[in-house]
Amino acid sequence: MKLILRTALLFIPLLSLAQLKSPSEFLGYELGTQFTRHHEVVDYYQYLADAEPQRMTLIEYGKTNERRPLILATISTKQNMQNLDTIREEHMKDLNGEGSPDKAIVWLSYNVHGNESVSTEASMQTIYDLFTSKSSYLENTVVLIDPCINPDGRDRYVNWYNQFKNSPNQVDPNSKEHHENWWSGRSNHYMFDLNRDWAWLTQVESQQRLKQFNKWLPHVHVDFHEQGVDNPYYFAPAAEPFHEVITDFQREFQETIGKNHAKYFDENGWFYFTKEVFDLLYPSYGDTYPTYNGGIGMTYEQGGSGRAGLGIITSIGDTLTLKDRISHHLTTGLSTVEVASKNVTKLNDEFKKFYLNKNFKYNSYVLNGNPDKLAALASLLDKHEIEYQAGTNATVKGHSYTTGKAGSIKSSDKSLVISSNQPKSTLVKVLFEPMAKLSDSVTYDITAWSLPYAYGLDAIASESLISKTYPPHNGTEYGVLKPDSYAYLSDWNSMKDARFLAELLRNKVRVRYAHKPFTLDGISHERGTLIITKSDNKQLKNFNDILRTASVNHSKNLISTNTGFVESGKDFGSGYVDVIQSLNIAVLSGEPTSTLRFGEVWNFFEQQLDYPITVLDEDYFGKVDLSTYDVLILPDGWGYNSFLSTHIKEKIKDWVKQGGKLIVMGGAIDALTSSDKDFALKEKEIKKDSTNTIESFEISEREQIKSAITGAIFKATVDNTNPLAYGYSDTYFTLKLGVQSYKYLENGSAVYLSEGANKPVSGFAGSEAQKKIAETLIFGTEEMGRGQVIYMVDNPLFRGFWENGKLFFANALFMVK
Ligand SMILES: [Zn+2]
Repeated sequence: MKLILRTALLFIPLLSLAQLKSPSEFLGYELGTQFTRHHEVVDYYQYLADAEPQRMTLIEYGKTNERRPLILATISTKQNMQNLDTIREEHMKDLNGEGSPDKAIVWLSYNVHGNESVSTEASMQTIYDLFTSKSSYLENTVVLIDPCINPDGRDRYVNWYNQFKNSPNQVDPNSKEHHENWWSGRSNHYMFDLNRDWAWLTQVESQQRLKQFNKWLPHVHVDFHEQGVDNPYYFAPAAEPFHEVITDFQREFQETIGKNHAKYFDENGWFYFTKEVFDLLYPSYGDTYPTYNGGIGMTYEQGGSGRAGLGIITSIGDTLTLKDRISHHLTTGLSTVEVASKNVTKLNDEFKKFYLNKNFKYNSYVLNGNPDKLAALASLLDKHEIEYQAGTNATVKGHSYTTGKAGSIKSSDKSLVISSNQPKSTLVKVLFEPMAKLSDSVTYDITAWSLPYAYGLDAIASESLISKTYPPHNGTEYGVLKPDSYAYLSDWNSMKDARFLAELLRNKVRVRYAHKPFTLDGISHERGTLIITKSDNKQLKNFNDILRTASVNHSKNLISTNTGFVESGKDFGSGYVDVIQSLNIAVLSGEPTSTLRFGEVWNFFEQQLDYPITVLDEDYFGKVDLSTYDVLILPDGWGYNSFLSTHIKEKIKDWVKQGGKLIVMGGAIDALTSSDKDFALKEKEIKKDSTNTIESFEISEREQIKSAITGAIFKATVDNTNPLAYGYSDTYFTLKLGVQSYKYLENGSAVYLSEGANKPVSGFAGSEAQKKIAETLIFGTEEMGRGQVIYMVDNPLFRGFWENGKLFFANALFMVK
């Protein structure tokens, strides 16, 4: 018995090698005949890691909002895996031009859009084939595989599909299984599009993934997607515009990879297209972000997505099955690794060259401004592993972001200095340069995102390398409160201040705020200053503890005072000092709204402000007693016209008139206010050119772009005496995404485009679009009965990255009375 046992043990490794289970064998059904739930995918990867300990490592690099694991597999030959640390170190030394690497690094990312559901299925066959029939590719290549970037979205789709699918599945496109509802699986838990989040890192999935990505900075990165059912497959090379930092080699290699894919697709008679639609500009994608970090970043698009299910009839009468979709993504995935493995020397040489190339116009960016905003930006730079320092005392000349012209700035140890003299200099240029150079104005996404504007900071882009010091040691001790003061004061300038307030309100602290500037103990305080008095909070036994904890949590330095008698301005007991209400807040979800725009509001409350919100779905909105809410938010969307029946509209208006506060965003504004005399807001009419012209069919796309704004930045005027704009200076750089245009509100125009401000400071806006938006409202307030309507024509919460806009939203909640 003993002998037999020993023999059996000896044979186990060999047996397991020979019998590595394919996904179909492991899952118990043929791959492509079912959708695999995320935990089963994780099980298969775990099985492979256990069966192939010498050729694979598997890590859990984080968890999603719904607590699903985020996993990353690293595979190569046994010998490479033994030297994995050295391989990685040599590769990363290339950032300083010092490495001598001899392996290619390929990273395959699947299912960033959860309902583009083929990807994760294809990933399982891909890793299996790399271990078996295609194992020769691994001789000189390390492959990292993230089988599912967005597990919450994927499982939302897969669980939904399993509930509604016919048995057997129904290929008729009219069947329910091909009609996902509004809560579709594309985005993550908070309905954020993770393929717009690589640079802004607002979501937990992106934040955790980037830590792993930065350890490797792969030569080649593929982001697997799906598009409409009827589209043929899309692969590299990408479409124009390309960002100017993209090197000739990066362009050429996209072509090399594309041609290799084409060879396989031609052999199989499969259709595909290249060089169209999917451009390389906006830096927050899974193709551009890796590209700006020296890799070849690509998007591959299969036809299918949430519509296709296990099989569907296409418009030309073919049947597209999940199996077909798997074969296509499998083919391009393997072909990518094949091309990389055949071009190891070239990839390594060019990667090194990319990092040695520092020939940029601007060599330093110097930023001044509110310390909270500087700290928020520094925290983003940390996540990207971008270096920054404090400045020395000097005057720095260069391009001024505020004026758009040559100018200067006083740098000091309070300034943030980011120089191009660092490995991540290309990424620095892309994220900071005042204006991205466009080779073509027809793009898939926004054309402006420059961080000094997004964070509301004064900045200079300088051609010289600015001297800098190491970051000053921050020795401030927060939360040291003088006991028994009459009151404590906090400034009101940033989201940090808003979070501090939210924490106090959650703890039932009564907080007042000033409507007029005032001077006390020789210090001047602006509108919006928070005033927390001892006598207001007598009922709180642990008042001092709550205040101390909140000021530590948000690194706030409170100012103590022993009197409410001000030297100038209004005393604390004045009618110009209001109590901030603790609020019951609700937001509308469902068909009237856009999933992304709704998600931004939801995420803002729970992950940024940390303040509770009730989600009211359109289904039962009509039955909800609105009088229990102080604030109602209508996010941007296209479905309001059918939702806002006379009954619903009257219900909302009555509630406002009784004292409710309504925040209306984007597309909701039109549907609610147009041709309704109760609203003072009026659309700006523009006379159409009446000349009767004919243009050729082909140029019409170019003509259309004249009327478009593809996400551009404009310099707006701020009336910071309006509570909606407390804490702001007299200018604000706004990100405009469209040409919606309204006339100024007589008393309530808090932020607007003044005469001559209709040209973008960064990004593209067509000539007709510029006429349309001239002298129009951006954010405004209107009284209605005892309540308020707050308009947000532009979206300060767009993708969660326009940091300097977020205080407007907090003002709408807490400052507007
Ligand atoms: Zn996609």
